[in-house]
Amino acid sequence: MTVANDGVPADEFETDLLRNLAHQRGTTRQSASAQDIYQALALTVRDRLVDRYVKTAATYYETNPRFVYYLSAEYMLGKQLPQNLLYSGLQNQARDALEKLGLDPAELEDLDVEPGLGNGGLGRLAACILDALATEDIPAVGYGIRYDLGIFKQTFEDGAQVERPDDWTFYGNPWEFAAPDDQQPVGFYGKVEDGKWTPDEIVLGEPSHMLVPGYGTQTVNLIRLWRARASRASFDLSRFGEGRYGEAVDAIVRSENISKVLYPDDSTELGRELRLKQQHFLVTCALRDIVRRYRLRNTGWDAFTEKVTIQLNDTHPVMAVAELMRVLLDEEGLDWDRAWLIVRGTFAYTCHTLLPEALETWPVALVERLLPRHMEIIYLINFHFLQEVEQAYPGDTGRLRELSIIQEEPERRVRMAHLAVVGAKAVNGVAELHSKLLRETTLRPFAELWPERFHNVTNGVSPRRFMLIANPRLTGLISSRLGDHDWLRDLDRLSELEPAADDSAFRDQWREVKRANRRDLARYARAVTGVALDPDAMADVMIKRFHEYKRQLLRVMHVITLIHRIRRGETAGLVPRSVIFGGKAAPGYYAAKRIMRLANAVADVVNGDQQLSAYVRMAFLPNYNVSGAELIIPAADLSEQISLAGKEASGTSNMKLALNGALTIGTLDGANVEIRDRVGADNFFLFGLDAGQAVALKQAGYRPRSWYEADWELRETIDFIATIDGGALREVADDLLNRDEYLTLADYRAYIECQDEVAHAWEDRDAWTRMSILNAARSGFFSADRTVRDYGREIWHTPAVPEA
Ligand SMILES: *Cc1c(COP(=O)(O)O)cnc(C)c1O
Repeated sequence: MTVANDGVPADEFETDLLRNLAHQRGTTRQSASAQDIYQALALTVRDRLVDRYVKTAATYYETNPRFVYYLSAEYMLGKQLPQNLLYSGLQNQARDALEKLGLDPAELEDLDVEPGLGNGGLGRLAACILDALATEDIPAVGYGIRYDLGIFKQTFEDGAQVERPDDWTFYGNPWEFAAPDDQQPVGFYGKVEDGKWTPDEIVLGEPSHMLVPGYGTQTVNLIRLWRARASRASFDLSRFGEGRYGEAVDAIVRSENISKVLYPDDSTELGRELRLKQQHFLVTCALRDIVRRYRLRNTGWDAFTEKVTIQLNDTHPVMAVAELMRVLLDEEGLDWDRAWLIVRGTFAYTCHTLLPEALETWPVALVERLLPRHMEIIYLINFHFLQEVEQAYPGDTGRLRELSIIQEEPERRVRMAHLAVVGAKAVNGVAELHSKLLRETTLRPFAELWPERFHNVTNGVSPRRFMLIANPRLTGLISSRLGDHDWLRDLDRLSELEPAADDSAFRDQWREVKRANRRDLARYARAVTGVALDPDAMADVMIKRFHEYKRQLLRVMHVITLIHRIRRGETAGLVPRSVIFGGKAAPGYYAAKRIMRLANAVADVVNGDQQLSAYVRMAFLPNYNVSGAELIIPAADLSEQISLAGKEASGTSNMKLALNGALTIGTLDGANVEIRDRVGADNFFLFGLDAGQAVALKQAGYRPRSWYEADWELRETIDFIATIDGGALREVADDLLNRDEYLTLADYRAYIECQDEVAHAWEDRDAWTRMSILNAARSGFFSADRTVRDYGREIWHTPAVPEA
């Protein structure tokens, strides 16, 4: 049993809780609000983790190990209270103490606010990796931005997404420690003379940190988040005296806007100056902190690459390459070659996309104005790099143009992915297929130049977050079979479940767990949407950001096909399904928002018609986030992973769902390929074009209209879209017929047939349960612990430093 039990008796916990209520909240049991109690509870749990952190820090200080610094513009951490209660082993004491005081733990958990500092998969991956780093005892710090407003809160009005601000720290965040005495200056604009930059604007970065405990270990790492503060002199007292209140705070607002909002878009570049400012802000603060920490135990620069490795999560923090060069050249006085060797030995870069439009670039003119010295340095890096290219491919100007960090046409722009590859010792994709496609297409010329620099590190998810916390019923059942909880740190041990797939009593228990989880989900769905789901129906879920390439539209088209079949009385072979959607669309992404409206309109049709709802009910659960994932995933029977092959880098909800016993219906895309390899083709519903076929079809001149004309059921489906709600969503149908960029029509028939197979398989519930158990038993590979071990072995070369 590895859940550490700090051996705190319940009454001691109660004493500590009451003391925090008095000393930290300044109130008494009698007059305390629920918020007071929640905060005192959080502080009591935090105190225990701080004790562990102090020991971890002492061990690290003594051993002076290599640290991994993880730079990410996004983190989707999920609720901290349930995690920290479990990891600190205080769950039972806390529950007993609260019960004695007549308080409901669930009510207090409701007050714990999920920090939504990310958009989707990329941000959640960062959180899973930090969790795994601590669990694997790897010395690490995560750096990010402490956005005042996290990812917007989503509601629906008339089926359309409405966005509201997420003021997540409104009542204060009890999990963080602010360090206003440790502010770092960050410069913007200004001019460069003789290689010396004099910025025009200085903003202060103020750090605060939160604790990142490992599971089943004493190690506690940190995540350090930065917020922008104006200098004290920014308030214009004379203007205020004149009654010009707005102008008096102008400078403050301008500075502090830098960490105001998370950009609600994870794939397309907004081209906004503020976003580039955010990136530079994060990178500057993080690097200053990294150098400060290095100097606590080391002098000079010789040991830097030995002690520091910096992982760049996508291109958002890639300006760090230029910033570290600037620090080494301009502040530390190193010469170019030495500085470049250090930079090249420090960074590693994770690429998260294949979509060319998601490869970030910035106009040279903007970078020049905002960060003039960085632009000079980027030119110099490029100059040296292109000399190397010229040597490798003499006279090949095409190569030079292709590889250059600067794109010339149609506008001069800095290609951040190129800067990343040139400035890093290692580049990785996030699934086998993705890494292969990166090497063959998106980054091909780089892979030809430096094949040894390219790696694959398949993503993973935290089994603590997505099994232990999200699905206590299943975790309990698995632990009873495996004899202990240790598998939560050693997920390959799930393979020990395999024989249980043939044990009918175990299958019954497994089914019971699923059913109980579906009941919980149905209760929630009813409360928030009014839709009454049948807990015995197949829970068929698609939960992820709304994006055309992910093809939520294809999912909706299947439901429309079912509507027609039921109305025609073709109900043989149909099984009752709860079709669950969750996901947000970027506020400016109209095409995705139209699909969302269509999903809601179709839901109204099926839920409002008894003939239809006997077979299909549909709930679009608003505001999908980590807490939503924790609720939906344990209930899921079918996992929809239906992106156009070649578009999804990895996906991680596919892993979370398989681990919780959902069967996947999916294309050969991202990590689906590896999931299928592991769980077995018989336990996976595969359909559709593969990545090569998709490219070939496009190159051959794809005409969606001919697919429409050739398939009457498809025709009926698209005509339905064109006419639903009085034709309000006709554009969705028009776009499918005229463009259909993601080959929805080409995959329609294969998808429908595959869904028919799914229904058939569901009818043999015992066989289905067997497949469900095998999915979980064979998915241990998808633990984020394995992901960080892969990084450690291939890229970071970090030893684990468990506490002495
Ligand atoms: C895992 C997760 C994602 C990523 O989902 P994909 O299907 O891999 O795109 C997005 N959002 C949340 C809240 C998640 O937990």
